[in-house]
Amino acid sequence: MTLFDLPDFDNHESVTAFTDPETGLKSIIAVHDTTLGPACGGTRMWPYADAAAALTDALRLSKGMSYKNAMAELPLGGGKAVIIGDARSHKSDALMRAHGRRVDSLNGVYITAMDVGMDQHDMEVIATVTRHVSGYAQPGKTGGDPSPMTALGVFTGIKATVAFALGTSDLKGLRVAVQGVGNVGFEAARMLKEAGAILTIADVNESNRKRAEEKLGARVVATETIHAEDVDVYAPCALGAVLNDTTIPQIKARVVAGGANNQLQRPHHGYRVLDRGILYAPDYVINGGGIIRVCGQIYGWSDDQIRAKTERIGVTLTEVFTRAKAEGKPTHEIADAIARSRIAAAKAKKRAA
Ligand code: NAD
Repeated sequence: MTLFDLPDFDNHESVTAFTDPETGLKSIIAVHDTTLGPACGGTRMWPYADAAAALTDALRLSKGMSYKNAMAELPLGGGKAVIIGDARSHKSDALMRAHGRRVDSLNGVYITAMDVGMDQHDMEVIATVTRHVSGYAQPGKTGGDPSPMTALGVFTGIKATVAFALGTSDLKGLRVAVQGVGNVGFEAARMLKEAGAILTIADVNESNRKRAEEKLGARVVATETIHAEDVDVYAPCALGAVLNDTTIPQIKARVVAGGANNQLQRPHHGYRVLDRGILYAPDYVINGGGIIRVCGQIYGWSDDQIRAKTERIGVTLTEVFTRAKAEGKPTHEIADAIARSRIAAAKAKKRAA
């Protein structure tokens, strides 16, 4: 089977494999679409079972970034880099420099950022060999840790989803179950608390659990059952695949809205959620605050501009919900359709110019 026949190949503009025997670098950079701007998406370092698994991930994630950037109304296309290897044992500054040089060889068609297996130090090392890197703390520039902006987007998104599903913009007394109170979950929970919500949380990490209990007065429940709590909103902010055959029938909340990536285990679970009368905020739309911040750093936007763009996530979600209701379709399908049509419209405009 060739690259072009793979089920996840979606007319990607380019897919490049890189090696560097000296440092052991084996990586793939997939550029899905650059109609809206340079392709941007993080570098993921992961011990993939084989090159085929890495390729599948690069193809899927880069397409996901095209959609995410389009829904956040950013002048960015979609791309992703994957490095094959265990970040704990195979990472070195030399490897990061080798990767940075490969990113640089694409001349800005692809801009990298942080993802699983990468940290601030790696970004600084990559930045010594390429300027096509963003989304980390750089002196004198806005940006840095994207989590606070992701959390603001999640908070804004929860408000919009609650307004649509429950017909209220007042969060006072709203019962919210937050699954995972790490960087994103805790900050979103803090804003919810400030707005008067009543919090239930679960986390596998004891110190994060305690912080939410002590600082936010949250009720702590078991990680295995948080999705089934008798609440108004279930906010997944930890893991993916939390909307699946087991959990969906047990959910009591009428709203699912949280920052975790890939919440639907499989696309058809979006239909199960719809069948149960639950309003689901598509994950890549509600958690777009982080990439908005990365984009702001690339284009030199002010903090106020980044914040205003992040607060538009609520408007975008409302557009998705309105169309989903009118067409009787699951929200994730409508979000994909809007993303595709935004890219197609920009393509047509470019062709006509
Ligand atoms: P984090 O590691 O800071 O927080 C995750 C929290 O979830 C941790 O406290 C962890 O202990 C907890 N957790 C792990 N397994 C759990 C389980 N089974 N049950 C309950 N809690 C569990 O990560 P984060 O940066 O807050 O990201 C959270 C989610 O949001 C991830 O899915 C991430 O991919 C997604 N996301 C994050 C950003 C960002 O800017 N950080 C942007 C977009 C999407």
